[in-house]
Amino acid sequence: MSFVEYSEFIKEGDVVIIFLGHESMMPIKVEAGAQTQTRYGAIRHSSDLIGRRFGSKVTCSKGGWVYVLHPTPELWTVNLPHRTQILYSTDIANITLMLDLKPGSVVCESGTGSGSLSHAILRTIAPSGHLHTVEFHAQRAEKAAQEFRDHKVAHLVTVRNQDVCKEGFGVVGVADAVFLDIPSPWEAIVHAKKAFKRKGGRLCSFSPCIEQVQRTCETLLEQGFGEICTLEVLQRVHDVRSVTMPLVYLGPEDGGPESAKMTTDPAAEEARPVANPGYQSVTCRTATPPREMAGHTGYLTFATKPRG
Ligand code: SAM
Repeated sequence: MSFVEYSEFIKEGDVVIIFLGHESMMPIKVEAGAQTQTRYGAIRHSSDLIGRRFGSKVTCSKGGWVYVLHPTPELWTVNLPHRTQILYSTDIANITLMLDLKPGSVVCESGTGSGSLSHAILRTIAPSGHLHTVEFHAQRAEKAAQEFRDHKVAHLVTVRNQDVCKEGFGVVGVADAVFLDIPSPWEAIVHAKKAFKRKGGRLCSFSPCIEQVQRTCETLLEQGFGEICTLEVLQRVHDVRSVTMPLVYLGPEDGGPESAKMTTDPAAEEARPVANPGYQSVTCRTATPPREMAGHTGYLTFATKPRG
């Protein structure tokens, strides 16, 4: 099992997502002889997991069942142990697209935090790209490095425990893309500039408040970045309902039933289509946005570093 390659069968040492329901999942590390307790009873790793196909339905000791899923960056994002605030899949999808990430890309990231974004970057840039990720909190850097080893992606990533605003990314002239999720991104932009390849590349900075965005944009402009734009990704729940509306007579071209007639003279100034009782009503599907827009996590500022 690896986060960048699909395996068919579960082996000892793999990470498996135990799926009890959409709101109830847990990641476990498979160990021969170990057991995991769930509300449906125990799962015995040796007999219930090792050698089984990823995606199987496994019956627990009390008779209830769970699915055992192959890990993906998306499942990891909703199951990882939180050491910090994290980025979620809606923002991550936009970051991946707008940074133009692809297999082979070299990316610099800071801070690593809980590694939510890092896992998605690694899946996209595999098998030949590289992620240089910088985290100044020593335990977070070590924990992330351990997870990358457990998830069999360590060959694709270098974790550096340093302050990106003072010491930069530890690499010069290699990056196709740079991503910042730190409280003062404007202090790291000069280092980001050094990390880029000569041909330039794309930068993204995530900030929860607009004052940070403004400072970042000013520094990006001063440092010669172009195509600066800021996005806010909002989640919108569509509350779909059926409503019945009367059909409207649209004039002689309408081709409606013979009985359908305008009740006013179409040539007259006040002429307008009116609901016609000779027509049937129609049922439409409509969506009203919720009163409050949930889902704001922050602003994504993108920019291009020109060649040179
Ligand atoms: N994007 C990450 C994720 O999806 O899991 C979350 C990043 S978290 C919000 C911010 C991280 O940046 C923290 O772990 C913090 O320790 C680190 N950090 C803040 N300032 C830093 C700096 N100057 N250099 C390196 N890391 C820094």
